[in-house]
Amino acid sequence: MNDTYLDAVSTDVGKKVAKKLGLPQPVRLRRTDTASPDAPLVTGPVLVLQDAWSRASADAVAERLLGWDLDVRRDPHLAEHQRWGAVIVVLTELEAPGQLGGPALDLGEMLRRLAPSGRVITLSRAATGGDAPAQAAARQAVDGFLRSVAKELRAGATGNGLVLAEGLPVEATSVIGALRFLLSARSAFVSGQLLRVSTPGGQAPADWTRPLAGQVAVVTGAARGIGAETARVLARDGAQVIGVDVPGAGDSLSTVMNGVRGSALQLDITAEDAGARILEHARSRYGTLDVVVHNAGILRDKLLVNMTADRWNDLLAVNLLAPLRMNETFAAPGALGPAPRILALASTSGIAGNRGQTNYAAAKAGIIGMVQALAPRLAELGGTANAVAPGFIETDMTARIPPVARQIARRANSLNQGGHPVDVAEALAFLASPQAGGINGQTLRVCGQNLVGQ
Ligand code: NAD
Repeated sequence: MNDTYLDAVSTDVGKKVAKKLGLPQPVRLRRTDTASPDAPLVTGPVLVLQDAWSRASADAVAERLLGWDLDVRRDPHLAEHQRWGAVIVVLTELEAPGQLGGPALDLGEMLRRLAPSGRVITLSRAATGGDAPAQAAARQAVDGFLRSVAKELRAGATGNGLVLAEGLPVEATSVIGALRFLLSARSAFVSGQLLRVSTPGGQAPADWTRPLAGQVAVVTGAARGIGAETARVLARDGAQVIGVDVPGAGDSLSTVMNGVRGSALQLDITAEDAGARILEHARSRYGTLDVVVHNAGILRDKLLVNMTADRWNDLLAVNLLAPLRMNETFAAPGALGPAPRILALASTSGIAGNRGQTNYAAAKAGIIGMVQALAPRLAELGGTANAVAPGFIETDMTARIPPVARQIARRANSLNQGGHPVDVAEALAFLASPQAGGINGQTLRVCGQNLVGQ
């Protein structure tokens, strides 16, 4: 899908006109499909700030970043020609709201020097009912602060937070793994999000550029859109991929799967035995199955007042009941490999609701409930279950939205543009990776900080 407005404001004249008229000024985001493969993780030095109590944790974070050959600074002085690639603010030991002002204002001073597509990342702790009120207030204050910072950033920069469970060290594999994802171009369209890391689980991959080497993954709805891109990104990260789609999409499915040297399985996921057939296909071809991505989905939009039983039931059957039924097979002990991953596509509509989408929003909210309930079962098996909730993504699905409504929908986020299928695929690939083993039961939004429900 072409975003002609983004094309227009990417020219010098267009940029000036948009500025003068006060129109949205989206910029092209730095993405892995556009940055060269050997492009650095970030585009400039990385500054690590902290509150007075979190210095030791900040030192530990800085040391890890040095291991990736980044130009890591603890001092805010920057040469005239330089821009910060990222500013990380470590707030894990905050005890009272008064301690937030110092690092917040320090960050403020750095923002004018943040590079295009730069990154702001906070590390904080989850507020719990057991905290002293002042500590809970300080911890929760970070959420509001980060979400607001993300809304103030410009030029494709993003702001996100990692929220660590009590006692979890900042050096935990999944904290470092998530930090790397958020720093990188892989998280181009993730902004305003607070991702929880709940356990020390997870393993650093032998090769950070091929974290899924040796894994076997299945993606449903892989013939086009987000599913096709997910198959490509999982394969790029080293996985052997099986693509599933309905027989009617067989030709495009073959093309996608040939392109990633994977295998195609023509199957309607609403079939009673869909889970068993996928597992059998994976085992007979590759000996195992490690990663499941429930991506296939349909729309049957109508206002509830005009909703028919067919439209309601068809949508629920594909978007929610099929993943639930297939998981009875996949989440059974011994079905998947030793560090299983079950991933599913939710949607911002399932979080905030959307006019004309009662059926779709019910199904997508159901997906969020599904992964929350699966999480402890998967943890027992050494794995995780998570969801990704895309906002407006440029695909065939959103191309069918009438033009004016489409323009409004794609601008209604902090990055003023629609996401690309690769943005969702990158988030799924991260959650599938061994370094994300401590993130479980979460729903990560890939929505450019969509204004709905944020
Ligand atoms: P798409 O319509 O472009 O592709 C969906 C694919 O699923 C198609 O290839 C289709 O043939 C396949 N499929 C449909 N029913 C199937 C069935 N019964 N069995 C097997 N395959 C089936 O959709 P997309 O935009 O790429 O979306 C992918 C997922 O992301 C969906 O779950 C969607 O709800 C979700 N999502 C998309 C957006 C967006 O903006 N595009 C936003 C939020 C969530």
